[in-house]
Amino acid sequence: MTPNSFDRRAFLRRSLQIGTLATGALAASLTLESCGSKKPSPAPTTTTLGPPASADWTKLGASLTGSLVLPTNRAYAQDRLLYNSKFVNLHPQGIAYCQSADDIARCVEFATSHALALAGRSGGHSYGGYSNSDGLVIDVSRLSGVSVDTSANTAVVAAGAQLIDVYNVIGQNDRLLPGGSCPTVGIAGLTLGGGIGVFGRKYGLTSDNLRSVSLVTADGRHVTANSHDNNDLLWACQGGGGGNFGVATSFTFNVHPMPQVTLFTLQFPWDVATTMLEAWQQWIGTAPDELWSNCQLLSQGTYGYLAQVSGVYCGSSAALATLLTSLQSSIGTAPTYRFNGSSDYLRAMEIEAGCSGLSVASCHLPSQNPDGKLSRSAYSAKSSYVNAPMTHAQAAAVVGALENLKSRAPSVGGGLAFDAYGGALNRVASDQTAFVHRDKVAGIQATYSWSTYTPAAEIAAGQAWLTWLGADVFDPLSGAYQNYIDPTLVDWKTAYYGANLQRLIKVKNAYDPDNRFSFAQSIPLS
Ligand SMILES: Cc1cc2nc3c(=O)[nH]c(=O)nc-3n(C[C@H](O)[C@H](O)[C@H](O)COP(=O)(O)OP(=O)(O)OC[C@H]3O[C@@H](n4cnc5c(N)ncnc54)[C@H](O)[C@@H]3O)c2cc1C
Repeated sequence: MTPNSFDRRAFLRRSLQIGTLATGALAASLTLESCGSKKPSPAPTTTTLGPPASADWTKLGASLTGSLVLPTNRAYAQDRLLYNSKFVNLHPQGIAYCQSADDIARCVEFATSHALALAGRSGGHSYGGYSNSDGLVIDVSRLSGVSVDTSANTAVVAAGAQLIDVYNVIGQNDRLLPGGSCPTVGIAGLTLGGGIGVFGRKYGLTSDNLRSVSLVTADGRHVTANSHDNNDLLWACQGGGGGNFGVATSFTFNVHPMPQVTLFTLQFPWDVATTMLEAWQQWIGTAPDELWSNCQLLSQGTYGYLAQVSGVYCGSSAALATLLTSLQSSIGTAPTYRFNGSSDYLRAMEIEAGCSGLSVASCHLPSQNPDGKLSRSAYSAKSSYVNAPMTHAQAAAVVGALENLKSRAPSVGGGLAFDAYGGALNRVASDQTAFVHRDKVAGIQATYSWSTYTPAAEIAAGQAWLTWLGADVFDPLSGAYQNYIDPTLVDWKTAYYGANLQRLIKVKNAYDPDNRFSFAQSIPLS
């Protein structure tokens, strides 16, 4: 068995696959100052022209260095789609593939003058479909360059770069940027919402490593936010959520010299799942920063359950072995599968991405790269946090929740993944950046997925399961991760941003006083 059979953010991928597996034939492996502006500001447009006519769209398209896709274009049917295939009713009036900040400024000005809704789109992975708009989608995927300055230990990443390409270029320079696991997620959405990943306990969130961000704001200015200029905007872009303050064009990050990387997976019989979860939370609470782990409980439809601890260690396999043995002893049951193997950074990220054995080009969607071999998925999710180690009864209730899913929706695959917090991630003060969740034991993500063959009643039962989890199993006051944005969450402002909400509102008023960047869960003006 290769380690990639049980990679980590393959949790989401796997849980996404389960809907297919269970119904198909596959095997079960399952602010506001101009000092940071890069160019003179265009004159603000205050005239409202009414809905754009065909000639207006033609004029917009001709003005762009990039290109504009309209409903009449052949490419529209594909280009309107997002990663989550449940979003089928997406009908933007135009999709602008911007190749420069000037292109973006023209699009923002066009949308404002014609009173059109607008949304920025990078990787298109928003759980809520919020990178779509009924008006204009401003797609930055053609802004995808990545460059590394090894002497300064910094990387400049254009806003449309996808994670696998970011890791590839940074890794080739023997450097590391902590990030998320899904290879096709865009750097913009990930960073602006936080960025949790396998190196988070050692190096913090992706957004903790953000030194500078350039954006086109609602008035069409190209603004750079760093520790000297527009500092409040930098703060807000470190976890304040995508799509709120402008359209980002590029990010400058601190990167780190490459550590030794080792991967591991332990699987246990389902009947010790509660003990495994209890032992895991104690273990991760005392583990060195070098160790990151997640604990997964999966219901694989007709394939049964999976109880697994996996992760990444910055160090040797031998040192990791001691840590794993300690976990095993606490559980008191031998694993049914144990893998502990050294890797290099890019391979580790490929494994975490579920792309082991694929080239970097193949580790994309076909819509992103002609060689792309990955596919879109249909899923829904809900997130929460573990504030303090769970009691035995709480852990048992969590394990029981998987059994509950199976009884509600036997053919729907889903699960719970506990991502270890702590270390560097938790040493940042909760008001130092917009990312407020700094005192957690772990993040929780519940996901269920389906295929085109899954009966509608079972899909609805999966959603009912998520609703039940949110109401009866998760601590409603523990918060929720803004990058797992959840349209069903009622008090989402408090859940995502807690005590940082009021400062985010101030930044919103400073940079987007007319609320041009607005969607169902965008930072409000009051
Ligand atoms: C399979 C999968 C795995 C994931 N794994 C992880 C993980 O390991 N760790 C983690 O932290 N998260 C993870 N996520 C969540 C992910 O970080 C968020 O969904 C993120 O918002 C996606 O960013 P995107 O650019 O791909 O999405 P998009 O849908 O393009 O954008 C997300 C939001 O940001 C806005 N936005 C997009 N581009 C810009 C821009 N240039 N400027 C300003 N706003 C913009 C959009 O309008 C939207 O509101 C995962 C998601 C999926 C689907």
